[in-house]
Amino acid sequence: KLHNQVQEAKGNIRVFCRCRPLSKPETIAGCASVIDFDAAKDGELCILSNGSTKRPFKFDRVYTPKDDQVDVFADAAPMVVSVLDGYNVCIFAYGQTGTGKTFTMEGTETNRGVNYRTLEELFKIANERTETYTYNISVSVLEVYNEQIRDLLAIETSKKLEIKQASEGFHHIPGIVEAKVENIRQVWNVLQAGSSARAVGSNNVNEHSSRSHCMLCIMVRANNLITGECTKSKLWLVDLAGSERLAKTDVQGDRLKEAQNINRSLSALGDVISALANKSSHIPYRNSKLTHLLQDSLGGDSKTLMFVQISPSDQDLSETLSSLNFATRVR
Ligand code: ADP
Ligand code: MG
Repeated sequence: KLHNQVQEAKGNIRVFCRCRPLSKPETIAGCASVIDFDAAKDGELCILSNGSTKRPFKFDRVYTPKDDQVDVFADAAPMVVSVLDGYNVCIFAYGQTGTGKTFTMEGTETNRGVNYRTLEELFKIANERTETYTYNISVSVLEVYNEQIRDLLAIETSKKLEIKQASEGFHHIPGIVEAKVENIRQVWNVLQAGSSARAVGSNNVNEHSSRSHCMLCIMVRANNLITGECTKSKLWLVDLAGSERLAKTDVQGDRLKEAQNINRSLSALGDVISALANKSSHIPYRNSKLTHLLQDSLGGDSKTLMFVQISPSDQDLSETLSSLNFATRVR
């Protein structure tokens, strides 16, 4: 690993805030924006503006609805590329359902997101380094739902999977499908296969995906042709379950269990990141499947990037405030 790279004083956790545009229905319904985008122009402040009260939240980067997928990826790219230098990396999107987590990570066919762009960038850089390295890149796609891990690339997706720790400390999931990808043309199909497997067995695809974490794991095995050194590093790209609190009247039975599991795993993630940010001696990775899976890519010399996704609509004010507060806690 390239330990000689300069470690920035604020550590290896970055938080970017992205606000989606007001949707058509919101505009028609007369919703107002509670985010002051003029103030966001300096790129680091997100100002929540409610009547006469204005509350600023500071981030490493703030994206307004005018910023597109290219703008967003440009800032994430240096981080994802460091996986080729042996670093473990984790990027995740946090926020209320409907704020653009999937748009940021997955994107659409014509407006591709961080996941696809990441692999595109990895292949581009890997191809520039063929004289010094050979890289072997593979992709796994998982879902965590109700604290159970499902392999979205497996033929038998209902098989339950467990996390094991290898002797050298690396966490792995025995039996998981690692799809080897040799060029960017193979990537979109793998990502689509994972994405469509999420729907299997659920009667409402959108509801199901808002209540589960979708996790893409990119494994990079690097062979340095000059030194003969072999390294293995991991890049996680995570589209988290929606962070919204359900109305008390809606939460019964299966919904209650789902809501508790989402709450537990998102709080566990917040606890891990704030423990890392505070340089705490105990990092509580084992409190959820999510943090346990991400363990190698959170903390140590790994690099973490969180997208806090928010809605500009006044109707979503309380959830927006809660997401901005979550982000402040981990920063
Ligand atoms: P989430 O995954 O957080 O539930 P989605 O990614 O599904 O949210 O986004 C909800 C809707 O908003 C989608 O129709 C999506 O295309 C749109 N959207 C989200 N972010 C943006 C953006 N930055 N620009 C344009 N449309 C967006
Ligand atoms: Mg989504």
